Amino acid sequence: MAGSIVILTGAGISKESGIDTFRDAGGLWSQVRIEDVATPSAFVRNPQLVQAFYNMRRHALQAPAIQPNAAHVALARLEAEWKGKVILVTQNIDDLHQRAGSKNILAIHGELLKSRCFACGNVVEERGDLGAASTCIACAEIGTLRPHVVWFNEMPFFMDEAIAAIEACDIFVSIGTSGAVYPAAGLVEYANAAGARTIEINLEPSDVASAFAEKRYGKATDLVPAFVSELLGS
Ligand code: NAD
Repeated sequence: MAGSIVILTGAGISKESGIDTFRDAGGLWSQVRIEDVATPSAFVRNPQLVQAFYNMRRHALQAPAIQPNAAHVALARLEAEWKGKVILVTQNIDDLHQRAGSKNILAIHGELLKSRCFACGNVVEERGDLGAASTCIACAEIGTLRPHVVWFNEMPFFMDEAIAAIEACDIFVSIGTSGAVYPAAGLVEYANAAGARTIEINLEPSDVASAFAEKRYGKATDLVPAFVSELLGS
């Protein structure tokens, strides 16, 4: 029996693709204040600023230079070749796992390339800019579209599915996350309670490193392909 694997990923796995993390030196939050752009009250206070921040990130994500890296590709290979289940729980709002070919993804913090209407709840693919004149294609309201991402003080998506998958998993791997944002940072505890093998892969020990039985520190593009080859026995 191959067993089931749950992989939690964070901003660190996309760093070598050219997307800034939040907390590293020079990361996104050293350029802007969280309270100014990533909370529901920020959106009420200054929707233009919030939209501009996500419009900028949406543009940046679609630049030709931004591509999945060897770590994203290795995880897609694991899903394709592993005989058991592989479920990816990602905190990332970029689409690099999807582009690399992963299918079984729970995007718990939403997706940058989607918008959501706060009048009717409709979610659609969104590759352009959002603003006061944006119109919902479902309910025709004007100015009601927001990025389909989870802001601080909002509930992540798919948490019940993620927890159920972790409670049933044999291997839990956390990759490129600082362990500073809850509830994602607490997911390793469900894996420990289930008796799963737990592995942290990150540039440095995360805030919750002590909860993992195995730790590997270095770049995701080095460590993740090697780890996947190990699991697949090749
Ligand atoms: P974080 O910025 O808090 O932490 C990133 C972690 O990755 C750090 O511990 C850092 O040491 C590590 N890291 C940096 N470069 C690495 C590399 N090359 N290889 C391996 N590890 C590396 O990110 P987080 O824990 O994901 O924080 C959560 C929040 O950040 C989430 O809300 C998420 O939505 C958001 N976020 C997402 C993106 C994205 O979609 N790519 C980018 C920035 C922030």
